[in-house]
Amino acid sequence: MHVPELLNAGEVAEWHDTADVVVIGFGIAGACAALEARRGGADVLVIERAGGGGGASSLSAGIFYLGGGTAVQKAVGMEDTPDDMFDFLMASTNAPDAALVRRFCDDSPEHFDWLEAQGVPFGRGYYKGKSVIAPTDDCLASTGNEKVWPYYLFAAPVPRGHKVQKEGDGGGALAMNALIERCEEEGVRVVVNTRVDALVRDDAGRICGARCKSSGEERTIRARRGVVLAAGGFGMNEAYMREWCPDFPTMGAEPIGIPHNDGAALELGLSAGAATQAMSGTIATASLYPPAKLIKGILVNNRGERFVAEDSYHGRTAEFIAEQPGWQAFLILDSETFDYPESQRAAHRLVDGFESVAEMEAGLNLPEGSLQKTMADYNAAAARGEDPLLHKHRDWLQPLDNAPYAAFEVGYNNSLYHFLTLGGIQTNSQAEVLDQQGKAIPGFYAAGACVSSIPQDGKGYASGLSLGPGSYYGRVAGTNAARGND
Ligand SMILES: Cc1cc2nc3c(=O)[nH]c(=O)nc-3n(C[C@H](O)[C@H](O)[C@H](O)COP(=O)(O)OP(=O)(O)OC[C@H]3O[C@@H](n4cnc5c(N)ncnc54)[C@H](O)[C@@H]3O)c2cc1C
Repeated sequence: MHVPELLNAGEVAEWHDTADVVVIGFGIAGACAALEARRGGADVLVIERAGGGGGASSLSAGIFYLGGGTAVQKAVGMEDTPDDMFDFLMASTNAPDAALVRRFCDDSPEHFDWLEAQGVPFGRGYYKGKSVIAPTDDCLASTGNEKVWPYYLFAAPVPRGHKVQKEGDGGGALAMNALIERCEEEGVRVVVNTRVDALVRDDAGRICGARCKSSGEERTIRARRGVVLAAGGFGMNEAYMREWCPDFPTMGAEPIGIPHNDGAALELGLSAGAATQAMSGTIATASLYPPAKLIKGILVNNRGERFVAEDSYHGRTAEFIAEQPGWQAFLILDSETFDYPESQRAAHRLVDGFESVAEMEAGLNLPEGSLQKTMADYNAAAARGEDPLLHKHRDWLQPLDNAPYAAFEVGYNNSLYHFLTLGGIQTNSQAEVLDQQGKAIPGFYAAGACVSSIPQDGKGYASGLSLGPGSYYGRVAGTNAARGND
């Protein structure tokens, strides 16, 4: 890992510019931070490495995980409370910071209103289907494991994915256009094509500036009140993936995002002594559904055993598949449940059709008797509306006993998964960057994909858990940096 030098303010020969708050990166976390810092009375300078703002946020589907009784949840008659949302998120996160989760849940309805007030468009529709990204322009949809065992034991399942008003994918650009416009209107200063490559600390231990480079020219920028790091994740950096995520499959997986999601933010954070968290966390997907009927099939590994409830959120399923021998998995269907996975990108391959389970077992090179036993057990329990092994919801239980059968290869060895990193710098509920002793580093805040926030792995992820906390804690970072009171 390359850790850049940390400059000493006393040795800075010249400050080329000064702002109250310096924000590094102009994706969703940086834009929200900049707006709130500006509204807190600060002169704000955003430094962006690309030719314009947007980042990976602009490529995103525009799903924000929000709840606790948002205007949309109310409009469609869904009852949700911050307590239920908190209980669900606490149950889904490995080592949650309860105060950080609590604050996000309590303020979630207000945060939705805030996003809408910035011009981020949201409708009032509810998409009831099981999909990765709702194909309609409906806002609300179930995008996580709320209805999946054991999560429904902790909190009443409620949909919390709020998608920007746009048919299907691509709403992230609309959200970013609105936020960037607000920044322009309100006098946030932005420099582009400029990469921050070092932070500056004063004698009191406060982060008080940044060094950046643009067209070969080096400039040092002073931050009177605070620095907000919002420069994205590290999935595009192959070496860092090997270093931090050594168990992540080395085949069949591609990062998504922009080339600048290369760990530059992580490097800057480490240079200032930041602690990291959940560094091996990823969310990968090559979803089997839609069509939803495929959830009625079963997933088996190359031992012919089931290993995950098939109604899980696709990121949860992907992480379980990554834990199977050879990263291999098969989706088993009968003639009633058969269909082709819709996603062309996932490239799941139909192995073949088979007249009997025994023939399929042999055709897939599974140990003799393994698949026959797995299916006999599954079918007997499914006929009773039960899944004692993995607790798949009864809505998706149907005996697979109508020949012919079919199998798709859905493992990493024969599909294409797309992933994001979830690990990063550790922050608290004030969006302050924490050091190795858990103490806030004065003047230093962070938000978005460069921090390890609420979701820490694919098993507990829900779509929207990057943009939701990223935008919310971006606001917190901006507000606190503008106060400059740590
Ligand atoms: C295709 C796709 C779909 C997605 N869909 C969703 C979704 O629907 N819901 C959801 O919650 N999440 C989604 N995600 C994930 C989500 O988009 C990201 O986690 C989130 O946008 C990260 O926001 P950010 O502001 O932290 O980073 P970014 O948006 O990546 O912004 C970081 C910015 O920092 C800049 N930068 C980097 N290094 C430096 C440097 N050294 N100096 C200055 N600037 C620098 C970059 O150029 C970039 O503009 C999706 C991601 C992708 C790629």
